[in-house]
Amino acid sequence: MRAEKRARPDTCALWSKAVARLDYHHWDNEQQHIGLWLCISCHIFAGRVDNDMVNKYLDLKGSIR
Ligand SMILES: [Zn+2]
Repeated sequence: MRAEKRARPDTCALWSKAVARLDYHHWDNEQQHIGLWLCISCHIFAGRVDNDMVNKYLDLKGSIR
């Protein structure tokens, strides 16, 4: 049996903003208690960080002269 998601707070975990919609970001379907409730913007951001896009962006940025 899978563990439950963490309890939903009133605010986004990343920038403490109260929003109507929060998405649950998790990275292991077998351990759903390991996750964060995030607003849409932060959910997209977290997905891109997980996909290593931050380092790709920084590499590209540093390569332009
Ligand atoms: Zn957020």
